[in-house]
Amino acid sequence: MMIDRSEAFALAQDASDALAPFRSEFLIPPAAAAFDPRRATSATPDSTRAVYLTGNSLGLQPRATRAAIEQELSDWSTLGVEGHLHAAHPWLPYHQELREDAAVLVGAKPHEVVVMNSLTVNLHLLMAAFYRPTAARHAIMIEDSAFPSDSHAMQSQITHHGFDPARSLIRLKPRAGEHTLRTDDILGEIERHKGSLALVLLGGVNYLTGQWFDMPAITAAGHRAGAVVGWDLAHAAGNVPLALHDINADFACWCSYKYLNSGPGAIAGAFVHERHVARQDLPQFAGWWGNDPATRFVMGPEFVPIASADRFQLSNPPIFSMTPVRVSLELFRRAGMERLRAKSLRLTAYMERLIDDLNARRGGGGGGPAVQIVTPRDPAQRGCQLSLLINATNAGERSLSDPLSPPDGAAVKAAHERIARQGVIVDFRSPNIIRAAPAPLYNTFHDVWSFVNALERSIDHAP
Ligand SMILES: *Cc1c(COP(=O)(O)O)cnc(C)c1O
Repeated sequence: MMIDRSEAFALAQDASDALAPFRSEFLIPPAAAAFDPRRATSATPDSTRAVYLTGNSLGLQPRATRAAIEQELSDWSTLGVEGHLHAAHPWLPYHQELREDAAVLVGAKPHEVVVMNSLTVNLHLLMAAFYRPTAARHAIMIEDSAFPSDSHAMQSQITHHGFDPARSLIRLKPRAGEHTLRTDDILGEIERHKGSLALVLLGGVNYLTGQWFDMPAITAAGHRAGAVVGWDLAHAAGNVPLALHDINADFACWCSYKYLNSGPGAIAGAFVHERHVARQDLPQFAGWWGNDPATRFVMGPEFVPIASADRFQLSNPPIFSMTPVRVSLELFRRAGMERLRAKSLRLTAYMERLIDDLNARRGGGGGGPAVQIVTPRDPAQRGCQLSLLINATNAGERSLSDPLSPPDGAAVKAAHERIARQGVIVDFRSPNIIRAAPAPLYNTFHDVWSFVNALERSIDHAP
């Protein structure tokens, strides 16, 4: 893509973007949300919207969500218990309405997918069934920079089974001086631990670095080593195209409030490969909503699992929380993951080139780049997010694994605050990372242009 630093270039890209109309289906917070949240109201005029690049943390609200929830409230008030069968979207089979769209999103067959619970809960439920450590084969492999909740979940599973996380949790670390993991190194570690490895469970896209792992190669290597392979797709679902069925993953789960725009704490998703869904020997935790609907209301004590991912459902689903997921999945169906990915590649490449240009015009404090991109340069190894280290005060390149002395972390935090004062919402992760994620459903090239300009001004005004 030809890069031009002008605002006119960004506006021209937006003018020719076939997905641009989707932006108007979202409520974009006012700019004040970035620097004075108490003053942000829905009445703020349209011209002062924030530049919102944190869809990787909490996606924006679709305009259609409010009316859809009001419909459910209305059905409850007029129908009471009859809403289970007669609501506009009947509650009894509600989760089935979400199945097809969720399956397309993660590259699964419909009976391999279910929308339920929240992410960490699903991690535990799936590990209860698929992590069955033995004295010989007890280890779980994760990335060292895994999201804390994933670490907690895996450590507690290991402890729960009477093993020691210090021995049984293998954390994949980048090479010295590098930020991200090399595929060959991951495959090498899987091979090296093949005697003891029970489970490989990485984030499909790492939340901190934005690295998209080679999911087919890692899944195949895990299986060759005799391990089960699961994926946490919190930062992958709705961000990158997925093919869970074809790569033969055993299980996966994801949340719906990041790229899937279903609201804070939204109901999550889970995938179980079809080779497992009809198994009689699956040592799963069970509840009545996982029982065959044909006998569910016989109310007997015996559990007859549904031969689909539905068998993992415990309770009847919270309809008011499922509704935003239904609305969001419909938007993804209309936009199409293929078109979204095509735009995403261009948006993120544009951000990368603008940052390269910024660095070319000005160095960091001691000759290193002013803004160091931590995320892989190869577009096939990332989604929309770029993770950035700001090098306003220090010499040389920085590594994520280098402990930063307090003034450095404080300098990045101060830069983040100066960016926010310009009406730009990006995410700061302690101690020293700024993450910016242009979501192709609602972000524009102009958003990216505005962010990089705000970023440059925030460095200029560094103390
Ligand atoms: C966002 C995120 C979580 C959050 O877990 P919840 O159970 O939804 O609170 C967990 N793991 C990863 C990898 C995440 O990105």
